[in-house]
Amino acid sequence: MKNITILGSTGSIGCSTLTVIRQNPTLYKAYALVGGKNVVKMTQQCQEFKPKYVAMADQHAASELKANLINLNLDIDVFSGDEAICDLAQLPEVDQVMAAIVGAAGLKPTLAAIKKGKCILLANKESLVTCGHLFMQAVKRYGAQLLPVDSEHNAIFQSLPASVQQDLGFANLADHGITKIVLTGSGGPFRDFPIDKLAFVTPEQAVAHPNWSMGKKISVDSATMMNKGLEYIEARWLFNASPEEMEIIVHPQSIIHSMVRYQDGSVIAELGVPDMCTPIAYSMSYPKRINSTVPALDFTKIASLTFNQPDFDRYPCLKLAIDASNQGQAATTALNAANEIAVAAFLENKIGFMDIAKQVSKVLEKLTFPEPTTIEDVFAIDLWARETCLKL
Ligand code: NAD
Ligand code: MG
Repeated sequence: MKNITILGSTGSIGCSTLTVIRQNPTLYKAYALVGGKNVVKMTQQCQEFKPKYVAMADQHAASELKANLINLNLDIDVFSGDEAICDLAQLPEVDQVMAAIVGAAGLKPTLAAIKKGKCILLANKESLVTCGHLFMQAVKRYGAQLLPVDSEHNAIFQSLPASVQQDLGFANLADHGITKIVLTGSGGPFRDFPIDKLAFVTPEQAVAHPNWSMGKKISVDSATMMNKGLEYIEARWLFNASPEEMEIIVHPQSIIHSMVRYQDGSVIAELGVPDMCTPIAYSMSYPKRINSTVPALDFTKIASLTFNQPDFDRYPCLKLAIDASNQGQAATTALNAANEIAVAAFLENKIGFMDIAKQVSKVLEKLTFPEPTTIEDVFAIDLWARETCLKL
């Protein structure tokens, strides 16, 4: 039986993780749950999974939750705040930590888990986007294990030889005959939308992803392909890949979840029904396999698999992210923070869809910070970029 702390249990990834646990109750225990403000959902999760500990982002949510649990006669310790969340990521009796808090709020608890040498199931992409260098060094130093949950990185991980899997982030790809890490992306809901009309699309249209069911912020990021840009940055750290070793392909059906090219001409890919329960289950059970609840892929029902090059005019955010990745982590941190603000503004109907890239680009033009060497440096850049983007 493995004990799991789920950071962000009330979110999309968190709920899918609980689905996998529900399917495998003799193998996994939801030992500690962490959520933001959704007290109703957390109450339901406590009723069903009876964790030992729970933490909410703030005291108000924690008090409400406590009252609910008392009414339900549930004996669960409830905490609140950053420090308590980090503590739950470090519990000695916890084997695995699902890092699925969205955004920069996920950084500290993920690092806390790394520092205790935990097995980290990494969904929070901001961790590597903003702190790739710091986190990979910490993983090595504290003997932690990173298993990627993001479907593309999970697919790539599955397509790598064991020797690279076991030295993730440090193995030299060329030494293992690998020529390219191939990231695939669906292109989002506006792949075939007239470019000149993109400025007028609504938040409702943007969050309606054709293949994956996800949180709002990441759904908008899929529509701008900023998501693929963040994944590009994430992949470079996770797989120790140079820009020359990276390739991005638009694959609308999302059946292939990413691939690895080898020097002999072989391409190894991971395919399946697009459902996050597969990569979540794989990361939980690695190197074994368990039932994820995801149905088998029916090849006879797939009409075709198509591929094309991403168009930077349609997806300016993708270009911004690739450029930032080449610039360094000050740039990728600023890109990520500015994007969070711009996406929130778009979701509130304050700016248009194509303004997201424009705002992020303006923030990056103003960036003068040196490369961050501590997580505090990262937070300073993050804060500056947020404030600058808000002002704009
Ligand atoms: P979501 O918005 O559905 O859920 C986010 C979770 O974080 C919620 O439980 C929320 O309560 C919690 N949270 C937010 N702020 C918090 C705070 N300050 N303290 C404690 N908890 C807080 O997001 P999601 O779609 O589940 O994504 C989670 C992470 O996984 C993101 O970093 C995302 O980029 C990544 N990811 C998601 C998917 C997907 O399919 N949803 C795929 C790949 C990667
Ligand atoms: Mg992904």
